[in-house]
Amino acid sequence: MSIIHKDQMYIWHPFTRQKNMATPIAITKARGSLLFDEEGKTYIDAISSWWVTLHGHAHPYIAEKIYQQALELEQVIFAGFTHRPAVELAERLLARLPGAFARIFYSDNGSTSTEVALKMSVQYWWNQGEKKRNKIIAFKNSYHGDTFGAMSVSDRSVFTMAFHDLLFDVIFLDTPTQHNLQDLIKTMDEHADTAAAFIYEPLVQGAGGMNMYSPALLNELLNAAKQNQIICIADEVMTGFGRTGKLFASEYMDHKPDIICLSKGLTGGTMALGVTACTDKIYQAYVDDDALKTFFHGHSFTANPIACSAALASLDLLEKEVCSQKIEWISAAHIQMTGRLTDSTLPVKDVRNLGTILAFEVDAGKKEYLNTISTTITRKAMKMGVYIRPLGNTVYLMPPYCITNDELERVYQVMEEAVLASCEW
Ligand SMILES: *Cc1c(COP(=O)(O)O)cnc(C)c1O
Repeated sequence: MSIIHKDQMYIWHPFTRQKNMATPIAITKARGSLLFDEEGKTYIDAISSWWVTLHGHAHPYIAEKIYQQALELEQVIFAGFTHRPAVELAERLLARLPGAFARIFYSDNGSTSTEVALKMSVQYWWNQGEKKRNKIIAFKNSYHGDTFGAMSVSDRSVFTMAFHDLLFDVIFLDTPTQHNLQDLIKTMDEHADTAAAFIYEPLVQGAGGMNMYSPALLNELLNAAKQNQIICIADEVMTGFGRTGKLFASEYMDHKPDIICLSKGLTGGTMALGVTACTDKIYQAYVDDDALKTFFHGHSFTANPIACSAALASLDLLEKEVCSQKIEWISAAHIQMTGRLTDSTLPVKDVRNLGTILAFEVDAGKKEYLNTISTTITRKAMKMGVYIRPLGNTVYLMPPYCITNDELERVYQVMEEAVLASCEW
């Protein structure tokens, strides 16, 4: 029996409508920007496999480090034990993170990294007797993950509809514009006594449709939060590790977060790992004679040594001059492409880019996740050997940094053709 046939018997896929599900493609291997299917057809992975792959698939340097680590120490309980990869990764991250971070808390993925950040913030106030200070401020249209806490602070959308009654109340703000900034600051001030934390995706709201907003305005909002001692949580699960043109998006603002969440690109996209880093001030609220002030949170695979080694290897590659050059080159190409799309006769609008991310709306139907143009565009592009996966009618690119000149030009062309073909269709 073929892999696909067995898949259809045994598997339930994520974010995938199961009825009349399109036949999945069995990928047998990958290299650099390319995915190879069972029939030997290749696809350029123009969205880095859900935004995780940084240096390309099956990178031999990362693979070697993973192999070496697996032979030496594959896993050990992380309460009462420690190991070199976890400590070295923490030390190297702390030296580079945007802000006065002092401690690293490990978990498994992006959702757990935001869950940890929320719990850490609420208990920070609880530990100091401020038990009413437990509300979270978040942006409308945000996405922070799929577990219950992460869902609660995410936009109420088609993703979360079945659970709305079960999600905790959140103070939702629009993303800042010149026009609404003063109102947002006022709302922030009004909740000074009850808001534990403000969680935000800096500069780009990913799953919400690659919405981009101004660093200067976010900085103003962070200022208001800081004045009210509201803990600022930067969810850089998507924006981290060079995606926005700087190592972290928080580098664009003067006001730095108190907590930062990382995953996706953390291991170069090879292993599941999450990081929640916090300042010493937050950490110190947990250093106490009272055992009840302990942070009672952890996962079986906390700080898995193989995942930490993969992250160290990815950092080695990120720190190479060629990697920064590639990021700059992709960013420059995207700027040119933004002009090309804006000037074109294609039915597109709101073409935007930041660093290695390019996005626009296809002007067909309502802007919503369930818009079926997404599947049409994906199908047409796949036929031409490029993998893109629009969010509703938001088409975007987020290629791995190893993408070649020819590959990127091919991606641009196919994307244009697929958009045109789906609108005529
Ligand atoms: C993807 C994402 C998450 C969730 O990460 P998972 O690893 O998929 O759980 C959280 N926040 C942001 C900003 C993301 O893009």
